[in-house]
Amino acid sequence: MVCCVNPEKWKKSMLIPVNELPPGGAQFILDDQALWLSSIDDFGMNCAVTSPLAAGVTVIPAKTGCLVHGRLTGKIVMPCNRCAEDSSISIASYFEEFELSPDGDSARDGEESRIITQNGIPILDLAAICWEEFVLSLPAVPLCSPDCKGGCPGCRTNLNNAACVCMRDEPDSRFAVLLGLKLDRKSR
Ligand SMILES: [Zn+2]
Ligand SMILES: [Zn+2]
Repeated sequence: MVCCVNPEKWKKSMLIPVNELPPGGAQFILDDQALWLSSIDDFGMNCAVTSPLAAGVTVIPAKTGCLVHGRLTGKIVMPCNRCAEDSSISIASYFEEFELSPDGDSARDGEESRIITQNGIPILDLAAICWEEFVLSLPAVPLCSPDCKGGCPGCRTNLNNAACVCMRDEPDSRFAVLLGLKLDRKSR
C-alpha cells in the first residue's frame, strides 16, 4: 500500500522515478510477501518467514539523488550456525541512506548507486534497497541461543539435548573450535 500521490504502477515494481517525487517526499510500504520471498529464493537464502516482512520507507528527493529512510520489521527462522536447529530472528531495524544519482557531481568511487537512468529518467530501485537493508539486519552468525553447544562432529548428536561419548577421553582443541565450545578442562 502506497500512500499519497504515487501512480499505481510504482507499487508493483517499486521502481520510483525520482524526478516525479513531490518535493516533500513520498512514503512507501513494501509488505508484498511475494516480493520478499522471491528475493529470498533468488539469493538461495536458507530462511523461512514466520512473521510478515515489511518496510515502511520515506523517499525525499534532493538535487543529487534522494534520501531514503525507513523501518524494517518481521520475523524469520534460519538454521543455527552451530547445531542447525531453527534460530528465530526478530527484525526491527531503522535505516537511512543517501542514494546519489549516477550523474551526481560527488559520486563516490566504487559504490553502486540504486538509482539507474532509464530513457534519461532517474529511477530509484526501492526493492533493492530494502533487500540490502534486510540482509544487513541479519546476524552474521545466527544462533538458536547464545550458549548453543552445537553438534558433535563425530556422531552429530545435538549437544544441547544430549551428551555423547566421542571425545570424552582426549579432548581435541580443533574439535572444540569447530563446536564453538570454550576450552575449559576443569568442567570436564
Ligand atoms: Zn544451536
Ligand atoms: Zn559424538
